[in-house]
Order: sequence, then C-alpha cells, then structure tokens
Amino acid sequence: MAVPEAVPTTVPPAGNPVIVAIDGPSGTGKSSTSKAVAVRLGLGYLDTGAQYRAMTWWMLENGVDVADQAAVAAAASKPVIVSGTDPRAPTITVDGTDVAAPIRGQAVTAAVSAVSAVPEVRTRVTGLQRTIAAGAGGGIVVEGRDIGTTVLPDADVKIFLTASAEARAARRSAELTGAEAADVAATRAALVRRDAADSGRKTSPLAKAADAIEVDTTELTLDQVVERVAELVDGKRRPR
Ligand code: C5P
Repeated sequence: MAVPEAVPTTVPPAGNPVIVAIDGPSGTGKSSTSKAVAVRLGLGYLDTGAQYRAMTWWMLENGVDVADQAAVAAAASKPVIVSGTDPRAPTITVDGTDVAAPIRGQAVTAAVSAVSAVPEVRTRVTGLQRTIAAGAGGGIVVEGRDIGTTVLPDADVKIFLTASAEARAARRSAELTGAEAADVAATRAALVRRDAADSGRKTSPLAKAADAIEVDTTELTLDQVVERVAELVDGKRRPR
C-alpha cells in the first residue's frame, strides 16, 4: 500500500493556555505591546481601559455628574458593556452602540479617572474582566492598571511597563492630531495628572504586583518590547 506523502501525524504543540497581565501607566506602549503579543502567540486580548472609558462615556451621555461619586455609584450597574477580544480587531459596545471612537475623545479622557475611582464602578468592571478571562479558552492578554494586583492575582505572567514621562508624552502626542498633538507640554501635564489620580486612588490603584516583571520601555522600540514580553510569556507555556 502506498504511503501518502507528508501527512502530518501530530499537531504542532500549541502550548498551554496562559493568562497574561500587563499593567503600567499611560503611554508606556501597553496597548500596542499587548495586542502584538496576543497576535503572535494566538491569545485573546482585553483592553480594560476601554471598559472604564465606555462606562465614563455612558455617564456623560446620560447626564450623570462625574464629580458626584454617589451618582456615579448609583448608575454603575446600568450600562451593558461588551468587549470583543480578537487582538486583530478588538471591539467595544455600550448598550449595543459601537463606542470605539468616542471613548478616545477629550471629554472621556478628562473624566475617566474620576469615574474609575468609584468602588462600585470597579466592582462591576472587575467582574466583567474576570468573566472574560475565565472564558478565554486559549488564554488571553489583559492590559490595565490593577490586573496583576487585583483583577487576576493568579495570572501566569505579570508584566509592569514603565517609561519616562517625556517618552510617554511624546508617544501620546504622536497618537493625537492637530493642535492637541503639537502641545507636548500640555499632553505631558495631562498624562502626569491622570497617572497621579490613578496611582493615588483608594480602591485598586495603579501598582506593580510584587511578582511582576518590570520592563522599562523608554529606550526600546515597540518591536523590542514585544520581543521581550513574548519571550517571557512563551517561557511560561509548556507544550500540551
Ligand atoms: O489605558 P487607558 O488610558 O485607556 O485607561 C483609561 C483610564 O481607565 C485610566 O486612566 C484609569 O483611570 C482607568 N483604568 C483603571 N484600571 C484599569 C484600566 C484603566 O482604573 N485596569
């Protein structure tokens, strides 16, 4: 009997599912790194900042005073926030509306730290995050501020990205357009303000987990950061 040529007898080892937590302040390259690592390793991807932004967008749309903690707390259970976790095309909807663009606007960016500091908001959004991570069959990269410390303390790999304020402001400016982009000093001031608010809040502040690996991205290109993080993650996966 003729033996068919080149019939694979084994499936290449895919590696175990792995949960990866990537935290750090704004402008450290968290989103770009997380998406690229997820694509490279065949994992899902969750942008938790987008969820807090979606919550904030809903508050602004519905006339909730974001400075009024009690009002924000009372409304925290209302918006239906759904995140798509394909790293090549992540999506986010609120009550069925695609909010991917409006959540990146100035109004939301200016209000998000106040909304995300409200404990009822964090409880609600943390619940969504844990459900998504638990349902990610092949593993997932979850990026945010408190993933390694609070949301997924048992994550297989924890990375904490840092960079100088100058490097972060320059990167953020490059993402903006027009007059906003030109004003690097204003971008730097806004970024430092937001980080201070995120690090200083009582509930689940931006913090490095004790067992997180810190990667300073100031002098690295995006490709170099992706390479480094992908290596760290791959090292934790064992063949099935
Ligand atoms: O990552 P991004 O800049 O989109 O996050 C927006 C805001 O969402 C942060 O400034 C922070 O206030 C909040 N956030 C948070 N916890 C997370 C992710 C984001 O409080 N895990």
